[in-house]
Amino acid sequence: MTAHGDCRQCEERLQPYLDRTLTADERAIVQLHLSECGRCARCYRLEEVLWKHVRNCCEEEVNGELASNGLQQRLAALRSEPG
Ligand SMILES: [Zn+2]
Repeated sequence: MTAHGDCRQCEERLQPYLDRTLTADERAIVQLHLSECGRCARCYRLEEVLWKHVRNCCEEEVNGELASNGLQQRLAALRSEPG
């Protein structure tokens, strides 16, 4: 389970993982990968912080509110990913 392809799949699933839209199987895969991969675990923590931030704010306001600290760009990048 250390193939680089797993990291990419894991990253793509972090958002739906946080949104709890993954199937049980997919969640298990993400959890397993996060437990084995420090890089993705750090990435997950970043996503989690961002996710909580978005949840706390009104999503409509995020574009303006977060533009100054770069989170908006991060969000845009996440949103532009296929799927
Ligand atoms: Zn990884």
